[in-house]
Amino acid sequence: MAMKKRRYALVIDSRKCINCKACAVACKAENEVPIGNFRNWINEEHQGEYPKLRIDFEPEQCHHCEHPSCVRVCPTGASWQRKDGVVLVAEDDCIGCRYCMIACPYDARYFHEESGTVHKCTFCTHRIDGGVLPACVETCPSKVRVFGDLEDPASRIHELLSTRRHHVKEPQTGNGPQLYYLV
Ligand code: SF4
Ligand code: SF4
Repeated sequence: MAMKKRRYALVIDSRKCINCKACAVACKAENEVPIGNFRNWINEEHQGEYPKLRIDFEPEQCHHCEHPSCVRVCPTGASWQRKDGVVLVAEDDCIGCRYCMIACPYDARYFHEESGTVHKCTFCTHRIDGGVLPACVETCPSKVRVFGDLEDPASRIHELLSTRRHHVKEPQTGNGPQLYYLV
């Protein structure tokens, strides 16, 4: 029987974010991310001056791009993309040249000093392949992130993208980012 086509993505409702950073902490614990490195983070935009000060929070991480420049530039094939769209690094094949770090428009990768290889968000494949949500999605108290399969018309992510206005960051890169921000 043919395998069902999947395309994993994230919808992010930044307005719900309270900058508690539980997502970043959960990711670090789940994926043993070294001190000083992050696989996800919160951008802050400050507007106005005290007392009329406004701060907007925007969670970000690897966009698991449809046409990932990190994969294109990798000389060994260590950076690769699964059929369901998840972009990964095969550690055994990574020579630590860091071309992918330079090619990523979102600065979503870091160099792991101990292993001498590049690491990034994996969408928690070790969890999602068993039907469990990524750690950041599960942990967020404000339910900012919705993870799901764009190919599944019954999914929440499909419903949100069909009914709510949204945008992607830096579409001009041609990478086809798969983090969708509600507006
Ligand atoms: S856990 Fe949720 S609310 Fe907290 S910082 Fe992360 S995205 Fe924002
Ligand atoms: S955000 Fe960067 S690391 Fe992630 S798939 Fe796109 S180019 Fe690659």
